[in-house]
Amino acid sequence: MSDNRESKLCDIADEISTCQKCKLHKTRTNTVPGSGSFKAEVVFIGEAPGQREDEQGVPFCGQSGKFLDEMLDSINLDREVVFIGNTLKCRPPNNRDPEEGEKQVCRPYLDRQIEIINPKLIVTLGKHATSSMMPGAGGISKSHGKALRRPNGQIYLALYHPAAALHNGSLRNVLMKDFAKIPKILEKIKQENAKVKDKNKKNLKQQKLV
Ligand code: SF4
Repeated sequence: MSDNRESKLCDIADEISTCQKCKLHKTRTNTVPGSGSFKAEVVFIGEAPGQREDEQGVPFCGQSGKFLDEMLDSINLDREVVFIGNTLKCRPPNNRDPEEGEKQVCRPYLDRQIEIINPKLIVTLGKHATSSMMPGAGGISKSHGKALRRPNGQIYLALYHPAAALHNGSLRNVLMKDFAKIPKILEKIKQENAKVKDKNKKNLKQQKLV
């Protein structure tokens, strides 16, 4: 069966590269559409590109990206098998917080990427990405480390941002502990999905008998 999801993701990245829907296009060096596998079971979402990301067009490079890579490695994952992106695809000047209007016009790109990848789990990194992806979930200090199924059926896990935890020993420990839950959460999601599949099969058989 042909799978054109990879080319669909490339098409979105091409669209982003020429996007002028908000004023951030005027100050960006490169767009940062996100990177990773179109088959990713886990999608990581940060807030917006920083200086290094803007320079290289790659999400989570620099110190916090290195820390993210280390944590991925600790659970036997790497960038090639997950997808890493941001709620905004261009850097806000001086890393200021994204404006509401910028978030609104940029969000459809991320939503389309998620729809194509159809991940089992979305991990939000930091308070901004968490409030953007999970409105009403509460502050990051309360919501971190808990996997939640949202009304749209998607399962989310909120984590502290690697940049915030990088130079804060206690936050770093909390983040690493939360991160270590990912394999268990994925396993549970797979078990639940298998149960639902089984149930649907049985229902189908019953329907055939009627
Ligand atoms: S931040 Fe998003 S909406 Fe704004 S110019 Fe960049 S890609 Fe377009």
